[in-house]
Amino acid sequence: MATPFPVPVPQILDIPSESARTLLLNYLRPVALKKAEQLLTLLDRLGAEHAANLSSLASTDDRPTIAATAHNSAAIAVILRNALAATQQALANMETDRWGFCVKCESYIEPERLLAALTVDTCCTCAGCRPQVD
Ligand SMILES: [Zn+2]
Repeated sequence: MATPFPVPVPQILDIPSESARTLLLNYLRPVALKKAEQLLTLLDRLGAEHAANLSSLASTDDRPTIAATAHNSAAIAVILRNALAATQQALANMETDRWGFCVKCESYIEPERLLAALTVDTCCTCAGCRPQVD
């Protein structure tokens, strides 16, 4: 069961942005560390399972199945590596206190957006989720 967030989520929208960012940072850093650990474990497991699958298929000379197995493993590995890279970047940004700021306009990223995806690096305006206000 997930640890409950220290402040009810709707209330976080009513507190100043820096306070919300600090709360989220402290809450999500261990979540990011755990996620990176889990992704590394999945990549290790995928590599081991891929090697075992290819080993068991090698004697069958079933080239289409061997090719499909290799293709599927490679595709999953790309997804896992991309997720790991994004998580590691979020952790690096947390360590250097850049996490929670939009990489395009440098404003605070909306707390609900960070809660939904701790690897997000743009605010909703820059990401195009809502029209820019002039
Ligand atoms: Zn922005």
